[in-house]
Amino acid sequence: MKKCIICGNNKFKLIWHGKLRNSSNGFTKKREKIYQCPICDLAFLKDRRKKLEDSSVTRNIFNKSNSYREFVKFHSPREQAKLESIEKHISFKNKNILESNCGTGILLNKLKRVARSTTGLDSPFYKKIIEKYGHKYFSSIDEIIKSKVKFDIAFSLSEIEHKYDPANFIKKMKKILSKNGVIILRIPNFNNIYMYMLGNSFLKYDYRISHNFYFGEKNLDLFFKKLNFKIVKKFGLNEYTLNHLLNYINVKKRVPVKGLKKYFEKKTEKFVKQNIENSLASTSLIYILR
Ligand SMILES: [Zn+2]
Repeated sequence: MKKCIICGNNKFKLIWHGKLRNSSNGFTKKREKIYQCPICDLAFLKDRRKKLEDSSVTRNIFNKSNSYREFVKFHSPREQAKLESIEKHISFKNKNILESNCGTGILLNKLKRVARSTTGLDSPFYKKIIEKYGHKYFSSIDEIIKSKVKFDIAFSLSEIEHKYDPANFIKKMKKILSKNGVIILRIPNFNNIYMYMLGNSFLKYDYRISHNFYFGEKNLDLFFKKLNFKIVKKFGLNEYTLNHLLNYINVKKRVPVKGLKKYFEKKTEKFVKQNIENSLASTSLIYILR
């Protein structure tokens, strides 16, 4: 990358030169470089990968297997949490909804009862199951543009960080929105409390070959402004509990979500989660764009 895709700056600092996670437990043999733009804070993989844009390929190497059942098991609680926090800000009632990167359609299944229509976009691996659940299906965004179908709400969760060219992808998403349509993005937040508290002991496991970019509030605000979007809402979403963070700090390596030592009760965890999200030091950021 000669120029920062967001601010255009052409000088970067090297923030990582080491092995990268390339599966749920493995690391690359070779060391790889991650650079960061000192102006807008955008971090990116020096050798960006194009082939990992196909979600069925990525899920196959990072999750246990790429079966439908594994997908549902892995994603259901996470999707539920995301949806609940988004629902506080926007109504899904009678809307034509698209989910890009939909996988087996967990989110679409939850939205189907209230939405006017539900459509999934993902690799052909998921076509059969999406149609079985009664959603419309597309295998590419170009196909949607060609069909002239428009959406009131387009979800893209955990997706743009994988893209080889995120700007191109978002420009295309804009073309398929109806007049007052919005895009809802969930993006991993580089400047999150795990990174602040654990430094390289977090980054070592967080950096991975499938993420071409590592975004944060500063560069995302600028990015969306440049793409002529209005930010309707932005807020934090912390996907893990305080107990999870404290267990991680205790052993300084990734810990499972369940079976952890309990430092605090649910009430305190909820209190802290809210404050982490309010401060935007959460593990993810949600942007609603118009
Ligand atoms: Zn930049």
